[in-house]
Amino acid sequence: MSQEFIIKIIPHSTSVIPNSFIPLHLKSIKNLSNMNFLEEKILTDGVIKQGNILKVDNFLNHQIEIDIMRQMAYEFKRRFKGVEVNKVLTIEASGIAIATLLGDLYDVPVVFAKKSETANSTDDKYMSQAYSFTHKQMNNVFISRPYLNEGEKVLIVDDFLADGQAMHALIDLVHQAGGEVAGIGIAIEKGQQAGGKTLREEGYHLESIAIIDTMDWETQTIRFRKQPEIKLGKTNLKAI
Ligand code: 5GP
Repeated sequence: MSQEFIIKIIPHSTSVIPNSFIPLHLKSIKNLSNMNFLEEKILTDGVIKQGNILKVDNFLNHQIEIDIMRQMAYEFKRRFKGVEVNKVLTIEASGIAIATLLGDLYDVPVVFAKKSETANSTDDKYMSQAYSFTHKQMNNVFISRPYLNEGEKVLIVDDFLADGQAMHALIDLVHQAGGEVAGIGIAIEKGQQAGGKTLREEGYHLESIAIIDTMDWETQTIRFRKQPEIKLGKTNLKAI
């Protein structure tokens, strides 16, 4: 079910939002209390690009805002409570920041799959393939064998989930190594693309902190799927 409000993104070019700007900006939004920290961040810093692309370079894909990464890590830890995790896995490049902070919380190693356009020798690697939604090309995705092992319970995280290509390649790598997918944590799921639905139907425990049901480039509007309320902020991180 979608939330009843539509959010209008007002792009801005500064990397730091003056405090005085925030209340002014958010005035047009009803039901603010239902939004989580990441939805609010997308609202203030995100820009919708033509071709169904959400640009969040300001805090996730180019500049990294550590406090948002930290909040995401804590939120994943909360949502995967009770799940045994021996390793955190992501794919280069933007998943690495989230994965690192999450690996720190679990105190487990963090591994990132590498991408290459050309076929390499598969001798010492687990290799899979994924079509890149943003770069419109097929990538080989690989991990050197020593970094994924049989029996490991792997929590996979990434910045975006769209068609699920990257995620299915990561799952494939875990399975090739004889490991187990403990769960999948996504920062931003684009709910109008099939990845999330498919992964849930396949039985994976998938948690996405922000799920976009619709977004429109022309009007710069975005609609988030209703999520369980998360009241997580800088001040209460230690309480978890
Ligand atoms: P999928 O493999 O699920 O189709 O796409 C996921 C990957 O494509 C993510 O790792 C992310 O790098 C990229 N991606 C897909 N959609 C978007 C988007 O709207 N914005 C950004 N910044 N990256 C996206």
